[in-house]
This record gives sequence, C-alpha cells and structure tokens, in this order.
Amino acid sequence: MLQAINSEGKTCLIALRSKAEITKLKDTESFYCPICYEPVLIRAGAKQVAHFAHKRDSRCFSSMTGEGPYHQQGKLDLFQWLTNQGYQAKLETYFKDIKQRADLSFSINQKQYVIEFQCANISPDILIKRTLGFQSIKVNPLWILGGNQITRFSGQGLRLNMMAQACLNQYPDDHSAWLTYYCPVAKQFAHYSAIALIGDHKSYGHLTFLELRNSSLLELLGKSKPPFIPSEWLYLKRSFRTSPRSPRLSKSEKAFHKWLYQHSLHPSLLSSWVGLPVQGQWKMRVPIWHWQTILCYGFLNGQQTFYYPQLKQFIAPYVKTIPQQPLVFQDIDPIKCYLNYFLKVKQIVKITKDFYRVLYPIQTYQTLPIALKKDQYLLKKLDL
Ligand SMILES: [Zn+2]
Repeated sequence: MLQAINSEGKTCLIALRSKAEITKLKDTESFYCPICYEPVLIRAGAKQVAHFAHKRDSRCFSSMTGEGPYHQQGKLDLFQWLTNQGYQAKLETYFKDIKQRADLSFSINQKQYVIEFQCANISPDILIKRTLGFQSIKVNPLWILGGNQITRFSGQGLRLNMMAQACLNQYPDDHSAWLTYYCPVAKQFAHYSAIALIGDHKSYGHLTFLELRNSSLLELLGKSKPPFIPSEWLYLKRSFRTSPRSPRLSKSEKAFHKWLYQHSLHPSLLSSWVGLPVQGQWKMRVPIWHWQTILCYGFLNGQQTFYYPQLKQFIAPYVKTIPQQPLVFQDIDPIKCYLNYFLKVKQIVKITKDFYRVLYPIQTYQTLPIALKKDQYLLKKLDL
C-alpha cells in the first residue's frame, strides 16, 4: 500500500517523499496500517515505488492483495493525474460498511466514484461482487485494467477474457460499450470503445492511445462515439468465412459446426446477413456468427410472418440469463437491434406492433468471392 498513518494519525504518502526524507522517516517514525492498525514497514528500493508493507505474518486483508510495483506505480500515477485535474482524489479508501478498499476515490457533482486499477487476472465473480458491493452503497466503480492485460489479435480487435468483459462500461447516450487500460510504463491509456463482442472472447472496437499527461478523466468518460470502420469489420467477416476449422473447438463452437452440417451450410457461403455488429452482444451466450446464423436459417427462413415474442422465444437459449456486466444498463436488446437492420432495407416489414412479414428468404451464395462482395454491399446498404 502507498499510504500509512503515523503515531499521530496523520496519513503519509511515502512515494512522494524524497530519498533523504524516507531514510530519515525510517529511523524516526512508526507507521501503521489505516485498516488494521498493525505496524507496517517502509519499503523503498531503486526499482519500485516507495510503499508500506505489513509484516510477514499479518492477517490484514490488505496485505494479501499482493500488489506488485506495476500496480503501485499505476495507482500513484492515476492519483496524481486526478489531483492535477483538480479532483479531491483519495488513495486507498476503505469503505467500512462493505469491507472493501478502493485504489482511488473522488467525487463529481456529489456523485462518488472509485477507480480500481486491476493488473492481475482475477475471477469475474470476484470482480462482479466487488462492483455490486460499491453499487450497494451508491458508489460508482470504474475499473481501469492494467496495460499488461491487453491482448490484440488485429489492429482494432482485442481478446477480452471474462474478467475484462465484467468491466465493460456503457456510454449513456448511444449505449455503446467501452473499457480503459492504463500502462504505468508507457504512461498512457489505451481506450477501447464501441466494443462489439464477436466471439466468446474476441471483440472488435475502436482502440486509441492517450498519453496520461494529455488526457482527462472527462475525456475517458466522454460521450463521443468513434467511427465504425467497415474495412476492419469486413476483415473479421472474411476470416470467419475462410479460417480453417480449429482442432480445438469449445463446446458451443462444436455445437455450431454440427448445426451447420445438419443444415447443409458452410460458413464461407452463408448470407451476408450473418455477422452484423449489434449493440448488446454481451448479453448473448454465443458469438455473433453463431446466433445470427441460427436466427436466419433456423427461424426467419421457416416463416412468412412472425410475432416478435416468437422470435424472442426461439433465440432465448442463446441469451444469457444472468447479467455478467454490472456496469452496463440492461435495457439494450441485441435481437431488436439485429431485426432493425432487416427493417431498414425492407427485407422484413412490420405489419402491426410486434407482427412482422418476411419478404425475402435468406440465401446462401455459390462462391466465396460472391459472398465477400455481398458482405461489402450489405454494409454499404445498411449505411454502417
Ligand atoms: Zn492492515
């Protein structure tokens, strides 16, 4: 931890003291953990941020978090970053009621926020529990992941594990999802916005790098929607169509391939209607390609008309029942968002409230080049 209290109860942020001061403090002062009040030791090496540590046999929960130098440096950077912007930020705030300590806390317009700088991969359940804990006392948590957690698989594509997915935030105006990483070595944020999950872990979004000293909190929390890049999306669609089948498929991927086989379908020749970006994909259990294929060929092609509740019931097995993103509002309907694309170009028309007519069946294509051309054409037609 970065802070401890001295025998007079005053807080000391040791990392901001000079080397000479730290040496003097070591000899003259005693420090205590602000949570358990056990005596703590000053640790100040050449390669790490000066900090306090509990004695080895301590049973204080804050001694068990195992914060490494990367985490401590990041926490300190973010603290100074907030302070420089005029926020009354506090480090390592302990919330007694919920027995949780946040890395940073501050207020905006009487709304209280905490920042958790998460560098280690922890179970999504623990993260969700911590989020709900803060929310239960009306504190808004913002998770900033360590830059060491970024895994890119293409220019604008990141692999998001379940922990990262549990950290998704949502812009209030356009409901798109975002996530922020901070790297204390590079001193920059990687801000990832307009995120669309396309697989269990694969996602596509807009990744921008912002220098710490040139960026503000409001910029991160800001509302501007970044542009959708059709060429990037087409690249992902192309790799869905052309990638050889992996020998190590997950259970749900196996089920999908079996389904395709039983319906005499091949990914390379599926309609361009399969694989369109939708808001709220995080609510779905399976990748975009998977549920959209089943919805197109398993439902729409068998109906001339349908009621929306029928469609919802059909797709229900592919929708998560328990929300795993506590920071996103739950009022987005990815199925409706998908249906709206069909309405937009009159492939399907609305007859009365919740009652629809399918005007054209969903096709398959003869060859891969035709499919790729159609993918491009449909994105244009939908104005994406
Ligand atoms: Zn303690």
